[in-house]
Amino acid sequence: MHIVIGLIIAFVIVAVFARRNRGTRGCRWREDRTGNRGALRKYKCATCGAEAFSTSKGPPDSCRAHPPKT
Ligand SMILES: [Zn+2]
Repeated sequence: MHIVIGLIIAFVIVAVFARRNRGTRGCRWREDRTGNRGALRKYKCATCGAEAFSTSKGPPDSCRAHPPKT
């Protein structure tokens, strides 16, 4: 019985850490074509709402989770 409880606690801890990583790394960038400025492509993160411009094809690989509220 103790083993089962230990497994449940371990699972919860792993789930919490996985969710934190998802918040800081797992940005889901979506291209916002209405905000494009010439060669700059506007991307908006669907997870944290951050906005970024990129000149390359792919979305930015860095996440700005928890941006300043100002
Ligand atoms: Zn983000």
